[in-house]
Amino acid sequence: MSEKEWKQPIPDKPVLKFFNSITKRKDEFIAKKDNKIKWYACGPTVYDSAHIGHARTYISFDIIRSVLENYFGYDVNYTMNITDIDDKIIKKANEEGVKDTRIITKKYEHEFFEDLKALNVKYPTFVTRVTDYLEKINLFIEELESKGYAYESNGSVYFDLQKYKTKFKYPIFVPAGAIDESETDTEKKNKTDFVLWKKAKENEPSYPSKWGEGRPGWHIECSVMASDILGELDIHSGGIDLAFPHHENEIIQSQSYLDCKQWVNYFLHTGHLHIQGCKMSKSLKNFITIKDMLKDYTPREIRMLFLIHNWNTDMEYSVDAMEYSKKVEQKIINFISTIESRIKNYSDILEHSFSRLVITDNNEAMKVLEDTQSQIHVSLCNNIDTQKSINALLELINFVNKRSDIAKNELILISEYVKKLLKVFGIVFSEEKLKGSDTKLSELLCNFRNEVRLIAKKNKNLD
Ligand code: AMP
Ligand code: ZN
Repeated sequence: MSEKEWKQPIPDKPVLKFFNSITKRKDEFIAKKDNKIKWYACGPTVYDSAHIGHARTYISFDIIRSVLENYFGYDVNYTMNITDIDDKIIKKANEEGVKDTRIITKKYEHEFFEDLKALNVKYPTFVTRVTDYLEKINLFIEELESKGYAYESNGSVYFDLQKYKTKFKYPIFVPAGAIDESETDTEKKNKTDFVLWKKAKENEPSYPSKWGEGRPGWHIECSVMASDILGELDIHSGGIDLAFPHHENEIIQSQSYLDCKQWVNYFLHTGHLHIQGCKMSKSLKNFITIKDMLKDYTPREIRMLFLIHNWNTDMEYSVDAMEYSKKVEQKIINFISTIESRIKNYSDILEHSFSRLVITDNNEAMKVLEDTQSQIHVSLCNNIDTQKSINALLELINFVNKRSDIAKNELILISEYVKKLLKVFGIVFSEEKLKGSDTKLSELLCNFRNEVRLIAKKNKNLD
């Protein structure tokens, strides 16, 4: 047998993979250009306070963005839109007796970003608003019309899906059989055609266009803003409710406009946050606003809830789930406090009493640290699995908490690694008083001192 045949197969080096809603499998992530990532995130419709369902989506993407930037070393352009003209906004303005919808949208956009700031979510690279893009939206629709993808009907403009279907794959996000293509009795040619420009209704805000007064349809805004700022995208994201028809139609419009076969390479959809089995939403009125949530829980406790649930599966919100998240967060914060004190006290004891003493170790702690690092690396490569990463971190913490024989330099390496990882996840520690760690610390210190005394006594006996 040749030497080659004797060799064991080398296990595959883990590569970063994302669950991609386009292919419905985990695909290796390859940026279109070098280490630069162009990411467009659908932002909120600003007519009311944001709730923790929104927080679930934007914190999850904040974690992924940070892992891409600070762990994998990518340069991420994260662009987000604000939907500031829409039926719900008009309804709210009417309810509040406000003539100018911008009074509503400015207020809630400000509130939204304040909430995200309080949750330690990084501000997007670019924020775009529909009302700033009306001219470009008009030009985009005109281009679709001139290419034969759009038609005017009774003052509105629709996308003509028949032509698109002959050239491109459709649908992507739902099975073909799930789409109702029955005859339409409206002004559309086919039921699946969707509106690009809506004819103005009486007493509603409207803007000029070559087809008359009106306003943009919902899907067109994202195609125009994303294509204008980023062109073709590496990543596009939103909650799973946006996949069809919003994202499907965005792809259709952009691929027709840009003449490209694959406008977005990776579509990431967050799972929903449920409460008592139903999606948390404004319309069901079963929501808890971010502001109210922050009265009861810290930003770290809320973020931990989303770290211990993977971003692309639905999850249930409950007080019990929050209590568990609090426990995990407290365990980690206690650990940081304890390990730092252990390091500090090591120095104090060695400096003041036993300066010549060398504590040896058997390298077990370093082996455990290395195993943890590689487990976490594999988990992060696997669709940014933060749930498994936190579990691996908790096992490392359990190990270190049980052992009083870990050398100072090893404690430093462990502490540095844990803090760096938490920073990547957006769990940051201020100089606040760390609760509940004093008892544990004095216990550890007492064990440690006894051990040091024992060794010193032995050494003395040998003199
Ligand atoms: P909206 O303002 O309703 O368009 O929502 C803004 C973003 O938050 C979208 O990406 C939604 O999918 C997401 N979102 C809304 N409700 C929830 C929820 N209950 N769970 C997770 N994401 C949500
Ligand atoms: Zn969108």
